[in-house]
Amino acid sequence: MSIVLIFDGCYIYLIFMREFYSKAIVLGRKDSGEVDAVIDLFTEDFGKISAWAKSVKKIKSKLSGHLQPMSFVKARFIQRSGPKDGWSMIDCISDDDFSDFYTKERYDLLPLINFLNKYLFEFQSDRKLWAFLSQIFLKKYDTNQTSKALLKIMGFDPDKSSCAACHSNLVGAFKADSQIFLCQRCALKFNPNELLLFK
Ligand SMILES: [Zn+2]
Repeated sequence: MSIVLIFDGCYIYLIFMREFYSKAIVLGRKDSGEVDAVIDLFTEDFGKISAWAKSVKKIKSKLSGHLQPMSFVKARFIQRSGPKDGWSMIDCISDDDFSDFYTKERYDLLPLINFLNKYLFEFQSDRKLWAFLSQIFLKKYDTNQTSKALLKIMGFDPDKSSCAACHSNLVGAFKADSQIFLCQRCALKFNPNELLLFK
């Protein structure tokens, strides 16, 4: 742990910074100001985290190319404890274990990754989910089976569920915010961005 003194013109802050390292997959990124971004990642060791990446949008940023959705990276973070609490990414490199698999181009898995980014709570590590995510990028599995397998890992079994609206046993969608299954017909009443669809 390191301690940094920051003077903002009025106050002096004592900031405690701890450094962490983990493998991770990028779930998404949101611009923050002119050149910065907030990167959502699912890390092997800490579960989902949202980390601030400084100057990542500058052309010469060495981080930027690695921080696209569905990239596997090895990243170093600092956790700040002070007036601006949060995580910052200070360095990252591509994870060579995935370099032959063009993970950023697995558009078939993008709905699943977007779903996870919305659904997962921060700082809940899940080794089983990490192993699953690592595996599905190494080979092309059936998309519907992959989505169902993911839901089972998360504790929701589509094979033992019925539609929350009409009680049909033929479910085809999961709505994460209310944690309900829906059949394909009832799912049409909802925003598809809120659903994980499968057959
Ligand atoms: Zn229904």
